[in-house]
Amino acid sequence: MTELLNSVLIANRGEIALRIIRACKELGIKSILAYSEGDRDSLPVKLADKAVCIGPANAAKSYNSPELILSAAMAFGAEAIHPGYGFLSEKADFVKMVEEEGITFVGPAAEHIALMGDKIQAKKIAKKAGVPTVPGSDGVVSEPEEALQIAKETGFPLLIKAAAGGGGRGMRVVNSEETLEKDLKEIMSEAQTAFNDPSVYIERYLTDIRHIEIQVLADGENVVALGERDCTSQRRNQKLIEEAPSPAIDEELRAGLEEAAINLCKEVGYRNAGTIEFVFDNIERKYYFIEMNTRIQVEHPVTEMVTGVDLIQEQLRIASGQKLRHTQEDVQINGHAIECRINAEDPTQNFAPRPGKIEHFRQPGGFGVRMDTHIEAGYTIPPFYDSMVGKLIVWAETRDEAIARMLRAIDEMDVGDVVTTAPFQATLLDSEQFRSGEFNTGYVAKMLEAGIEL
Ligand code: ADP
Ligand code: ADP
Ligand code: MG
Repeated sequence: MTELLNSVLIANRGEIALRIIRACKELGIKSILAYSEGDRDSLPVKLADKAVCIGPANAAKSYNSPELILSAAMAFGAEAIHPGYGFLSEKADFVKMVEEEGITFVGPAAEHIALMGDKIQAKKIAKKAGVPTVPGSDGVVSEPEEALQIAKETGFPLLIKAAAGGGGRGMRVVNSEETLEKDLKEIMSEAQTAFNDPSVYIERYLTDIRHIEIQVLADGENVVALGERDCTSQRRNQKLIEEAPSPAIDEELRAGLEEAAINLCKEVGYRNAGTIEFVFDNIERKYYFIEMNTRIQVEHPVTEMVTGVDLIQEQLRIASGQKLRHTQEDVQINGHAIECRINAEDPTQNFAPRPGKIEHFRQPGGFGVRMDTHIEAGYTIPPFYDSMVGKLIVWAETRDEAIARMLRAIDEMDVGDVVTTAPFQATLLDSEQFRSGEFNTGYVAKMLEAGIEL
């Protein structure tokens, strides 16, 4: 079998940097962490085999700088770079530079990142692979007349989406013809500012949907699907709670979704881990492709808990040149897993970030509880980055038991005076709607509007 990589430079921070360090250690791969001054005292810096400060806290001058990351990798002789999620993970130009230096990128080829990173291109490939897509424009829309024409087919409300959008940003719902021209102009200029690309497209805005995504692993030849994750619990198009399997998906739907995801990957000869995202129409019980994420995702642990597959280790094996270790028949979904993204944000103040010092920390534990976090007692959450400070994941035999376990774990967790989203997530989990499994992407907003007790 092809030897594993000797060393990997980790171009990320926080919980995902720690997650990658742990996978490297178990595989005997040397972990080299590139960190910023803002993260000097963080756990990943303490636990990596080697840690190198590459710049100031400002991500533009550290984690988001292709030149600094590359020169650190070269200076320390790293054979590969793992980008984690966010930052440079989906920047095709960066990956091209990595490839040209003869360094292995732990992820797909630059070409595939570029292709799928453009949501319009990705939709075209999906169509070509016979995967259903949300009805809407065939490509870029830039003129109001065009938009009006398409609106005749999609009806209102419709959704204008930035081709380069991500992280729940670059989307606008248009409710009527009156504002269409103005909305189109505004979202185009927002997309230009945020993503340096004004291209937008139009989709029918589906109002009673779930977000369902399929995890895949591919080696350039074979593709295996590892079931779905249900990420319907969202606020402003951003995920709050994720679970696997989905309470709304049966065997037949799962088989269809997995086949669609596999066909899409085969269409381009995809390599490494990826996620194919779909919206699932609750009324028609039909799914439509929306986008592909060409990286490891925040919520990957729920898939790990129900399949037993360590996705980061598999990423490293594939990047080392090994063939997939699992066939589709090997993948069995066992029990139920739920993840809460713990953000240092105040749910009662419109989720404003709340960085600060964690004076003491009690980490929840016990059977079926996993917490992926870089926080520890005495750690100061820096104000410079994403407010996610960890992920609490539980596994149990059934969904009801998983909910009970998560509520117990949240109750056990203590982060001192730091305000987090955890009590809010407990309220959601404990709600009749969540427990029934019958909800859509709008239920969190509805509960917030109704005013909830924390
Ligand atoms: P996931 O599906 O893994 O949750 P998200 O879309 O929430 O993915 O993004 C994961 C991370 O990447 C978050 O930290 C988010 O802020 C960041 N991110 C995703 N897309 C972009 C983007 N286009 N620009 C900047 N950050 C992004
Ligand atoms: P991002 O790149 O920011 O993750 P996505 O295209 O994955 O953007 O969409 C994020 C979320 O927005 C979805 O999970 C879903 O809740 C909502 N969404 C996307 N497309 C549609 C649509 N056509 N109709 C209704 N909701 C949508
Ligand atoms: Mg998405």
